[in-house]
Amino acid sequence: MRQAIAVTRDNLADGTISDVTTGGDCKPFDELVSSGKWDDVLLYHFKCNTCGQLFELSAETYHGAGGWWKPLKHR
Ligand SMILES: [Zn+2]
Repeated sequence: MRQAIAVTRDNLADGTISDVTTGGDCKPFDELVSSGKWDDVLLYHFKCNTCGQLFELSAETYHGAGGWWKPLKHR
């Protein structure tokens, strides 16, 4: 799962995707990654800047297992 988080961070950094996570008490994703203090459960949403495809990133970081990176249905 850390691999997915690293890829997401890189895609954010080069402008491929944007963090469109809304609501909740989640920090911005880049803040979260740089702090290294990940919440037990993550749920973030990202949008492809090219085609508008939405993606969902979820990770259960405490146990290091579980989580997913998946495309959501196009609007
Ligand atoms: Zn795309």
